Amino acid sequence: MDEEQAQAYGAFLSQRRAELVERIASAARRASRDPRDVTLAAVSKTVDVDGVVAAWHAGYRVFAENRPQELTRKLAGLAAHPEVSPVRFDLIGNLQTNKVNQVLAAAPALIHSISSLHLAAAVSKRADARGLCVPILLEVNVSGEATKSGFTPQGMREALDELLGLPGIRVEGLMTMAPAADATAARRSFCGLRELRDELAPATDSGLPTLSCGMSGDFEIAVEEGSTLVRLGRIVFSPEYLLG
Ligand SMILES: *Cc1c(COP(=O)(O)O)cnc(C)c1O
Repeated sequence: MDEEQAQAYGAFLSQRRAELVERIASAARRASRDPRDVTLAAVSKTVDVDGVVAAWHAGYRVFAENRPQELTRKLAGLAAHPEVSPVRFDLIGNLQTNKVNQVLAAAPALIHSISSLHLAAAVSKRADARGLCVPILLEVNVSGEATKSGFTPQGMREALDELLGLPGIRVEGLMTMAPAADATAARRSFCGLRELRDELAPATDSGLPTLSCGMSGDFEIAVEEGSTLVRLGRIVFSPEYLLG
């Protein structure tokens, strides 16, 4: 990108962000919620470090990556941009147990995608050995689609006590991915996530305050249904993605 293109892209990012913030606020108000209870995480997996820097200047402070290597690469790249502070990075994608040490070294603010007891135990063991207490979300496959990872709601109920007892991790809430391109099914998933949280919360110390759900195609529905953390990628970074 030359200087002029970079300026135009920066202007796009700022204007788009203002529209997204307004849409999130409107969706929150429709559900009698406080817009300040919803965090917008910019999913930066499709852009380079320069894209993160430009988005930071456009006002974003929370970013999310779906791959451990990319998380590490972005954080290393940002070391050359000390002005980009404060900045937060979350991990949102599938995590293999052999990548846990790499992820802990990168120190994401929140891991959204703890999708099994096996993975939770692996993160717990390695975090505890490092003297860390890592904030995590438990990923729930609310829709029941075979292609989606995560606990089934019943599996979540059964594993909860064991999960809460693991050292080195702190369960802050739940996360889900909704079926794509089906607004009715998406709403059902988000609503199901909130209901599961309401059911499980009394058994926890934290009350599971964080509900991570909503992407470019369904974030307004997610906010209406109680999301506190929307994960937006294409709609943040891509001028080709038109607002509906
Ligand atoms: C890529 C990704 C997103 C963002 O998706 P968009 O549709 O581009 O907004 C959200 N969550 C996860 C887990 C992702 O991998």
